[in-house]
Amino acid sequence: MSYPPSVLPSSPPPPQRGSSLAGKAYWAMVQRVALTAACIDLGYIALFLWLGSRPLALVNLASIALYLGAYALIQRRRNALALVLIWTEVIGHSALGSLLIGWDSGFHYYLLLFIPAIVIANAGRFAAPIVLALLAYYIGLRVLCDYTGPLDPLPGRGMQLVNWIHICIAFALSAALAAFYRRTILIAERRLLKLATLDGLTGLYNRSHFQEQASAALARCAELGAPAALWLCDVDHFKQVNDTHGHAVGDKVLQAVARTLGAHLRDGDLLARWGGEEFLALLPLTDADTAQQVAERVRQAVQDSSVPLEGSGREPAALRVTLSFGVTPVRDARDLKAATARADRALYASKRAGRNCVSVSVG
Ligand code: GH3
Ligand code: MG
Ligand code: MG
Repeated sequence: MSYPPSVLPSSPPPPQRGSSLAGKAYWAMVQRVALTAACIDLGYIALFLWLGSRPLALVNLASIALYLGAYALIQRRRNALALVLIWTEVIGHSALGSLLIGWDSGFHYYLLLFIPAIVIANAGRFAAPIVLALLAYYIGLRVLCDYTGPLDPLPGRGMQLVNWIHICIAFALSAALAAFYRRTILIAERRLLKLATLDGLTGLYNRSHFQEQASAALARCAELGAPAALWLCDVDHFKQVNDTHGHAVGDKVLQAVARTLGAHLRDGDLLARWGGEEFLALLPLTDADTAQQVAERVRQAVQDSSVPLEGSGREPAALRVTLSFGVTPVRDARDLKAATARADRALYASKRAGRNCVSVSVG
């Protein structure tokens, strides 16, 4: 059957504040970056001690403390303070590194990595001034380095070595950040697609997506010269379920009915929540007689199943409902609207006949 079973019975989640780019995933990513940066700085301590630069080794020690502090603060949801520590580290480290061993060491590459993070995490009117401030700082640091020259130059080819390492790390971090942003966009896309195509309560196709998919399926049937059939079903006396047990129980019943309907359809069949307690199914490659038999099986299965109730003990522990069906053949995609109206008329014939039965309209 052509609906995603994994979606049942839970509904697609509504958009949440925590799911934005500056939400939970973003801060988890910042934590990962902080830990990675602390590990890299640990390596740098060894490197700078080996190259004979104690001041830079000490700067890296301070950096580790700042990154670990930021990590712990995010853990306690003190994100703003964590950002202050991270910015202090990035600004201070790039300044001290560039001034001590020279601009060409490449400490400033890390400042550039912050531009996409700033733009993604902030609305445009906030991001623009921050990026401009970063640019001003970047240019200022460059001018200052030109003016002072390296204050504590590394001996031999130490500076080139540091530069190569910075190039590699900056590339790796850029790729990791881009992968994070890509993942975030894909998750958002999937969520939007669910919201646009599925019914929030049952996880079945919504009306417009059903119509789109049904038109395509009917066009394929027409190409093959194969029949197709449609059924519309409606929960009997559903208002009473709501009135007696409440809306939440009514929702559970609708989810249970949706599951039973889905379980009786094949791959390629389409199932939608057509309205409140109405469900519509298209069975391609199926004639009206077979569709009637399938509807009869589903009707029986729903009649035989029950929805468990958690309750006070005075109410019954399980609830049973029945369905009325209207079945009709569909000629082609152009016939879809008229076939739905025929199925609706057949459904009301079932209601008039006493409910819990299947009626066919041959069209
Ligand atoms: P019939 O046998 O003639 O179909 O009677 P009925 O009571 O099922 O029909 P009616 O149209 O009077 O009532 C349908 C009810 O379905 C009314 C409406 O409040 C309820 N309903 C519609 N959508 C939802 C929903 O999403 N959740 C719940 N719990 N109830 C819903
Ligand atoms: Mg009803
Ligand atoms: Mg109805």
